[in-house]
Amino acid sequence: MKFETLAIHAGQEPDPNNGAVMTPVYLTSTYKQDGIGKPRQGYEYSRTLNPTRKALQDCLAELESGKWGLAFASGMAATDTVLRMLAQGDHVVAGNDVYGGTFRLFDKVLRRFGLDFTFADTTDPENLVEALTPQTRIVWLETPTNPLLAVSDIRAVAEVVKSHPNKPILVVDNTFATPYLQRPLELGADLVVHSMTKYLGGHSDVVGGAIVGKDKALGEQLAYLQNAIGGVQGPMDSFLVLRGIKTLPVRMDRHAENAEKIVAFLEKQKKVERLIYPFHESHPQVQIARRQMGNGGGMISFIMKDGREAAVKVAESTKLFTLAESLGGVESLIEVPAAMTHLSTQGSTLEVDPGLVRLSVGIENADDLLADLEQALR
Ligand SMILES: *Cc1c(COP(=O)(O)O)cnc(C)c1O
Repeated sequence: MKFETLAIHAGQEPDPNNGAVMTPVYLTSTYKQDGIGKPRQGYEYSRTLNPTRKALQDCLAELESGKWGLAFASGMAATDTVLRMLAQGDHVVAGNDVYGGTFRLFDKVLRRFGLDFTFADTTDPENLVEALTPQTRIVWLETPTNPLLAVSDIRAVAEVVKSHPNKPILVVDNTFATPYLQRPLELGADLVVHSMTKYLGGHSDVVGGAIVGKDKALGEQLAYLQNAIGGVQGPMDSFLVLRGIKTLPVRMDRHAENAEKIVAFLEKQKKVERLIYPFHESHPQVQIARRQMGNGGGMISFIMKDGREAAVKVAESTKLFTLAESLGGVESLIEVPAAMTHLSTQGSTLEVDPGLVRLSVGIENADDLLADLEQALR
């Protein structure tokens, strides 16, 4: 079936006992067993498996063209679980413009456990050839990136990674594009990671993360780690994401439609020095973006000519765009990454321009959004 249909039905069936159309929220920690070692349908304990979480996990697997999915309490819990496949001395190559929290986990936390990281510009796969070492076990790719919306060619990166003798695992953080716009597993990635807090949940009311893959052995290893570490998503949160996903295609279409109108407005503004949107002609990887993604998405970044003060002024002057971290909800948000979401990259090579403003364009009426930006810029 097609994506829009899967988004509503995958992993979910009306309850066989009473016909309930929506997946019940199974608020239970444990399950009655029919005898010792005879749990019903494999359910023993909700850290290991819960029916509401399972419905979401199965839905995610289908949407990403995977074979299995795992849902976590946050995107960072999912990311951390992937990295726990490694051991002391292992090396990871990651994009040099990854999400600030991913950089913090890698650089500040996991280095202490003996993992080694190289941050490279993955928009040119040639840089990867240089960064890969005999110890490299994981290549961590984010595309488009947060907050600079840099686009990497997943298929080209996968070719480089696969031709390396020790065959590192290619992980793609697909949070910004969502499986509606881009399916990395179809392009050669081994694992997809999500912050479901963003577009998948879509209503700014839940925090969650996911890992999706095809390979059976990798799936078993990660399910083992999910249970062993325990950063699982609760049943209520799983329900909220399942519900959010049902409207993902219509939301993503509207996010992009509104974003295109805002891009057309911003490119005419003299106070804006640089505009960044994956489908805009000025974007350095616009051709790859147009080939790889269904539309340009709902995220826009721009750099104010007058730097940090001007960026702060705009972000504090909008009335409809809410000044807040996070993204991907139905409501429009604005933020200054250098002072907010990406503060942890300060002083590092991942530091972002202080004059950068990031918009998460919501699905309100575009005219209202444009009027708000116009008065804020003024
Ligand atoms: C938000 C985000 C994360 C982290 O997810 P949480 O749900 O906040 O833990 C990871 N990657 C990207 C691209 C994000 O935007």
